[in-house]
Amino acid sequence: MSALSGERKRRFGLIGDPVQHSLSPAMHQAAFRELGVEASYELVRVPARTPDAVESAMFELAAGGGGNVTLPHKRRAAEALEVATEVVGRTGACNCFWLDAAGRLAGDNTDVGGIRAVLESLDGFDPVGSHVLVVGAGGAGTAAVVAALDGGASRVHVRNRTGERVSRLISSLGDPRLGEADGETGVEDWDLVIQATSLGLFEEDSLPVPLREMAPAHALDLVYRPGGTAWCRHARASGWTAEDGLRVLLEQGVLSLERWLGFPIAPPVRVAMERALVRAAAR
Ligand code: NAP
Repeated sequence: MSALSGERKRRFGLIGDPVQHSLSPAMHQAAFRELGVEASYELVRVPARTPDAVESAMFELAAGGGGNVTLPHKRRAAEALEVATEVVGRTGACNCFWLDAAGRLAGDNTDVGGIRAVLESLDGFDPVGSHVLVVGAGGAGTAAVVAALDGGASRVHVRNRTGERVSRLISSLGDPRLGEADGETGVEDWDLVIQATSLGLFEEDSLPVPLREMAPAHALDLVYRPGGTAWCRHARASGWTAEDGLRVLLEQGVLSLERWLGFPIAPPVRVAMERALVRAAAR
């Protein structure tokens, strides 16, 4: 029996717009069932045009247990925090929040820890000393860059449709291992390419970065869709090993649960979460 059974029903949730497609409720409900915790995980749509409503939605969920934040509110969520982890400070984004022991709104960016956990478990990939290309310079791109740097990469280059965003990201992080990838990046060999644009959610989306000109290595797509993304299929067809965003979603979810509940998530709970995710993603 869980240490938490017998407590009042707790309330967790995801704030964003849109949120209805999210797989997080299935993943977290499976964890609560396995842990014997009486809790719900709700989808809380805060329209993109009303960012001022993010803070009150966060306080409401935090009082019940905690929550996550997704597009387009991660930056606004970071600004609302009273206590932020160092990673929130570096990325300017928060995707996980709760109330700390003093009743203050606390938050983390578990996307970074989630990506880092996946990088550390990719078969045949050593993050230490690696050369990493990140495609995309939005919230996910920033999290991927920080995860690669913190994992010990010796070189991280970023490519994005809007170049100005790359320059801003590089100057805000101020790390000498970071650089801007230009159109000639294709001729360079990378140990890992992380796809962090929003392309790939729809089958008709164009490929964010072709890999055929590069020596095959590892590809990590942060996007996921039923049946896998076209970019992952393209990567495998080009001889790369490829992983889609489902594992990152799982790892950030495990880290979020640990922040809310205050103890490490045991392997059987993680397995239940993974099975629920795979089932929900196939629907
Ligand atoms: P974001 O901050 O809005 O950034 C979007 C990124 O995609 C930017 O780099 C943008 O480039 C690029 N982009 C959009 N449309 C494009 C197009 N037509 N051609 C080329 N580039 C395009 O979003 P985000 O938070 O970074 O999220 C990006 C994706 O990562 C989303 O699909 C999200 O679901 C996924 N994600 C997954 C996980 C996970 O757990 N697996 C976690 C976080 C995010 P510009 O700067 O030029 O606009």
